[in-house]
Amino acid sequence: MLKNKVAVITGGTRGIGYAIAELFLKNGAKVAVLGSRKETVDAALSKLCQQFDSADMMGMYPDLTDYAAVEAAFADVKAQFGRIDILVNNAGISAREPIEAYDPEAFKKIMDLNVTAVFNGCKAVVPAMKEIGGGSIINTSSMVAKFGQQSGVGYPASKFAVNGMTQSLARELGKYNIRVNAVAPGVTRTDMVAALPEEMVARVAACIPMGRVGEPEEVANAFLFLASDMASYISGAVLAVDGATVN
Ligand code: NAD
Repeated sequence: MLKNKVAVITGGTRGIGYAIAELFLKNGAKVAVLGSRKETVDAALSKLCQQFDSADMMGMYPDLTDYAAVEAAFADVKAQFGRIDILVNNAGISAREPIEAYDPEAFKKIMDLNVTAVFNGCKAVVPAMKEIGGGSIINTSSMVAKFGQQSGVGYPASKFAVNGMTQSLARELGKYNIRVNAVAPGVTRTDMVAALPEEMVARVAACIPMGRVGEPEEVANAFLFLASDMASYISGAVLAVDGATVN
């Protein structure tokens, strides 16, 4: 489904991002995996190398919150693979502090990665996509952008912002054949969920009509669809992959 396409995936070293990298490679794409540290990027690439050709992958760890660093990383991807067709803005952190205990610095940090880094990625990739006549940007949102969450207000605030950016940039970039969509996972079995208190996961899982949390591979399938030409007229969508979670 992605033969001859080049994809950049932020937060591609584990969890949902790693599952996306794996699935994109399986579907013929060349993939640049971006993570926060050299060690985790190297570990992800050596795992992917066991299944796929190492010539089809590269790894980087730019500071995603620094626009110049993101621009330089994308230039490296173009230098190595010649083009960028797909950008997955997936790196993200969560929060659960109640408002009175919420450190304003922590609020700034979550906005920097979950919102500013998405802006940086979108801005930096536009020239590369215009050059090849279009592209697909997919942002990782969350089910919390449907109804908020009970504590850790920075996280839902950041994901509502991701949805706003997705819908606005879809309108702005449609004329360049650049599609901008988001995938909004429900509770998905990754390290992010493993870090949550068990009772919080159980409380959320109890509200899932399908009666279970999602697997990273199930979420990755939605990214594959939106990245592919099968979604050629889909832009501005926020696709929920949450087992019909209601609240
Ligand atoms: P994870 O913690 O397993 O992986 C997060 C990824 O982001 C890692 O690859 C990590 O290297 C990267 N990352 C973290 N901080 C970074 C930084 N400062 N700079 C660059 N990269 C950084 O999490 P996950 O569950 O796979 O989450 C991926 C995305 O999915 C996030 O945007 C998250 O908000 C979203 N999401 C997750 C769930 C869930 O239940 N797991 C639900 C809804 C949305």
